[in-house]
Amino acid sequence: MAAPPAEAPARCDLVIRGGEVIDGTGAPRRRADLAVAGERVVAIGDLGRTAGAVEIDASGRAVAPGFIDVHTHDDRLLLSGPDMAPKVSQGVTTVIAGNCGISLAPLRLTRRPPPPLDLLGDERWWHFGDFGTYAEAIERAPAATNVAMLVGHSTLRVGTMDSLDRPARDGEVERMRALLAESLRQGAIGLSTGLFYPTARSAPTDEVVAIAGTLKALGGLYVTHMRDEADHVEESIDETLEIGRRAGVPVVISHHKTVGRRNFGRTRETLAKIERARARQAVGLDVYPYIASSSVISIERIRMGIPVLVSWSVPHPEAAGRDLDDVAAEWGCDRVEAAERLKPGGAIYFQLDEEDVRRVLSYPHAMIGSDGLPHDARPHPRLWGTFPRVLGHYARDLGLFGLEEAVRRMTGLPAACFGIADRGVVRAGAFADLVVFDPLTVIDRATFDEPVRPAAGIDAVVVNGRVVWRAGASTGDRPGRLLRRGSGAGPSPSSAR
Ligand SMILES: [Zn+2]
Repeated sequence: MAAPPAEAPARCDLVIRGGEVIDGTGAPRRRADLAVAGERVVAIGDLGRTAGAVEIDASGRAVAPGFIDVHTHDDRLLLSGPDMAPKVSQGVTTVIAGNCGISLAPLRLTRRPPPPLDLLGDERWWHFGDFGTYAEAIERAPAATNVAMLVGHSTLRVGTMDSLDRPARDGEVERMRALLAESLRQGAIGLSTGLFYPTARSAPTDEVVAIAGTLKALGGLYVTHMRDEADHVEESIDETLEIGRRAGVPVVISHHKTVGRRNFGRTRETLAKIERARARQAVGLDVYPYIASSSVISIERIRMGIPVLVSWSVPHPEAAGRDLDDVAAEWGCDRVEAAERLKPGGAIYFQLDEEDVRRVLSYPHAMIGSDGLPHDARPHPRLWGTFPRVLGHYARDLGLFGLEEAVRRMTGLPAACFGIADRGVVRAGAFADLVVFDPLTVIDRATFDEPVRPAAGIDAVVVNGRVVWRAGASTGDRPGRLLRRGSGAGPSPSSAR
C-alpha cells in the first residue's frame, strides 16, 4: 500500500479499510484505505494511524464510486419508498429520474393520467404544479439516494394541450417552453421525450426542437426514448441527432436497442451511426442488460407475437406475473382481446436479441441504466438486478469487459455526461458516494419468476458520507440530495477511444 497521504487525519467519521479501490476513471484498481469526514472523502492511502467513528473492513472487497442509474422512473419512489431499497441494494447512490417523457412535475391532475404517465401512479400522485414544489418535497423529506431530474415532454403536453393526437400550437409550445425554463431554474437538469408513446407521437421534430431550444441557455441536455426502436431505428437516431444539433445541446439515447426479430443484429449499424455522430456533436446512450423490455400495455407490441408477461393490471390484478397467452387461453379469447381487457396495465416484452444486448453493452460510450419500474406489481427484474448483473454476469462471468471498465460506465462516464460534479469518482475532495462489493460473488438474484430479490455481494453503500445499506438491509438513513446540473458540460464530441 502507498505511504500515508499528507492529509490523513487522526480521526474522521468513516474509514473503509483494506479494499481495492476502483476509482471510476477506468484506471486499474489499487489497494488503499479511505477516510471520510462529513460528506466528503478526505484521504486515500495507508491510513493505519487514522481512526474512524465508523469502520468498514473491506479486505478482499472492491471499493468504488456509488453507481449512477442514468435511466429511472423513480420520481415517485423517492417520495413513497424513500429507503430506495431496489437501488441502494445494487450499490446505486444517484438516480436520474423523469425519463421517457414522463416526469411527476410540473403537472397537477384530477383524473388518471394517460399511459404511459400512469407508470408513476394514478391522479393521487400528480399534485406538483411546478418543479420547485417537487424539489422542495425531496429536500424536505430526502431519500436514501441522490436524484437529478429531467422534465418530461409528455408531462408538459398533458398539462398544456386539450388533445394529444396533434402537433402543439404556437401558444402551447410557448407555454411548454416557459414551464421547462422555470423547471430548469428550479433545479431540473434537462428535457426527456418519449416520442414512441401516444402522448407524444404526434409531436413533429420541429415541436421538440422548439421546446429543447430552451435548454442551451440554461445548461440542460436532451434525453430521448426515440420515436421508433424497430424498423425505423436509424431514422429515429437521425431525428435525435438533428434535435441536438438544432437546439445546440448534448443528446442521450435512452435504453438503446433494436426491437423485433427482423431488426436483430442492427445494433452494428446503429452503433456505427452513433460513433460517426460523436465526431460532430455530443451523444451519449444507455442500456439495460436484458433481452426483455417493459412498459405499459402496447397492442402494437403484442401483435408482434413475442412472449409477453403481464406486470400489472388495474381491472385484473390477479393476472400480474402471468404469461399473456395463458390469460387469453383461460378467458377463451386471443391475446389482443386479453390485453385490451387488462388495460390499464403493464407488460414485459421478450423482443431483443442477446447478441445486440452484448454489442451495446460492449460499446465504450454506453452507460448503464436500469429503466426499472418500481410500482409494477410484478416488475421486470432489471429494477433490482441491473448493476450486479453487469458486474457479475457480463463483466466477470462472460468477460465482455474488465471490472474497472464496468465501474467506469456506471460512475465516471455518467457523471461527465450528465454534468454531475464531484461524484462518480473516488478521490480526496469528492463526495463520499461509495459502494463496497465482492467482485467474486456480486450477482443479480432477481429473475422474471422472482423479480423482487436483492442482489448478492453488495456489502455496504454510502451516500454523502452516511451508510445507507449494510449487511443486506437498509440502515434507514436518508442523506440523498436533489442534484442540480453542475458546471461540467455534457459529453464532448470525440472520436473513438
Ligand atoms: Zn423508455
